[in-house]
Amino acid sequence: MKFLSSRLSKEDRVKAQGSQSGIDFQEALIRGLASDGGLFVPEKIPNVASPWLNQKESFLHLTNQEKHQRVGASIVAAFAEGSSLQKTALSICVDALNFDIPLKELSTSTVATAEHSLYLLELFHGPTAAFKDVGARFLASALGVVKAEKPRLVLVATSGDTGGAVAGAFFKKPMTEVIILFPKGRVSERQEKQLCAWGENIQAWAIEGSFDDCQRVVKQALASQKLREKVELISANSISLGRLIPQSIYYAVASLELFFKTGLSSRFVIPSGNLGNSVAAMVARAMGFPIGQIVLAHNANRAVVDYFETGRYEKRETIATHANAMDVGQPSNFERLLDLFGGDWNLAKSNTVATSVSDKEIEASIVSSFRDYQQVVCPHTACAMKAAKLLKGAAPVVVVSTAHAAKFESLVEPLVGGKIQVPAALAELLKRPSQVEMLSIAEAVSRLV
Ligand SMILES: *Cc1c(COP(=O)(O)O)cnc(C)c1O
Repeated sequence: MKFLSSRLSKEDRVKAQGSQSGIDFQEALIRGLASDGGLFVPEKIPNVASPWLNQKESFLHLTNQEKHQRVGASIVAAFAEGSSLQKTALSICVDALNFDIPLKELSTSTVATAEHSLYLLELFHGPTAAFKDVGARFLASALGVVKAEKPRLVLVATSGDTGGAVAGAFFKKPMTEVIILFPKGRVSERQEKQLCAWGENIQAWAIEGSFDDCQRVVKQALASQKLREKVELISANSISLGRLIPQSIYYAVASLELFFKTGLSSRFVIPSGNLGNSVAAMVARAMGFPIGQIVLAHNANRAVVDYFETGRYEKRETIATHANAMDVGQPSNFERLLDLFGGDWNLAKSNTVATSVSDKEIEASIVSSFRDYQQVVCPHTACAMKAAKLLKGAAPVVVVSTAHAAKFESLVEPLVGGKIQVPAALAELLKRPSQVEMLSIAEAVSRLV
């Protein structure tokens, strides 16, 4: 399996597919970005679902973690075909996916029964209580089996959940330093704690600037030959294939689970920002897993919603909202979304819709999710709960829950009128002392390049 740049012209792509040259999965993981600035996309999407659709009994006998590890291994092996990671796919998935990803059916006595059943896919049972743990842990495990030529330096700019997940995943990994850059004073208190609780091989830099400034510093470092001579540079941002591919695993497993139960393809409603999670769902559907409509639930940042409405895409200034991990004006995986549909707007919107949820609606959705389903949801999940209400028809609806509400307690607790219990792993982190350095943009740049 070869990976090509999303910016190749159609003709160049055809030529590249026929040739011997090209980059495999392992190399794409390490390089991060194609040399023309495009994103790596697979030359084709493999059909991985067929064998699983014929293995109902053996699938249903597996535990939740085993399902994710085994289905994950077959997905990863297909994308890593011809790379050294193909043979180690199962051990990487066993190491990375060591927590449950439960699919819960929601029941209600307060709302008139809908035509379909409603499920919550809880992606927040990992060490830092957000779905970013899946991709970050996979990336760390996969790099763990690739021998480093030089000391590794993992760089990540974060506006909230990514940095903590990457820190946790690479904590104490040999030959590896991690630098997390975050905008000082612009992440929630508990998110900041998660970024700064590590020490050892993890450095947290609070930058006097915005998230975009942090990203610019990282880009400048990634472009520096001088730095590359000293270290093997790894970027752990949202466009990394090492985060994207593993995120397709939980869609595959949940859709199989519901297909064996109902005989129907499921619909997924996904809180979306940079589109890494939702493009992964589209990849799972393209692999043949029984997935019907995909609903992208955005907050007030409307770039993608407007594209689906008008066929025109324009990047926007970022708007700050309650669902801060989705505050993205210019989603970095949009190029991958276009690539999946060959840039064809009509094809893109044939089985995917996008909707925008305001802060007022997020608050109302947190209240109604608790009242109607006894679920305390985070502001991101609340966007998807709201969007799910618009769906009709019999196919099961799965709302994707991207973070634990305890990370956003200052918003959620007053709305549900009670304290949220903090998951044990998160409570452990919140107790640790913070280790952080305050740097100006110029100081950060001069330390790196
Ligand atoms: C990152 C994040 C999102 C957005 O995911 P994308 O892949 O960027 O679309 C949604 N919810 C939470 C809690 C997140 O941390």
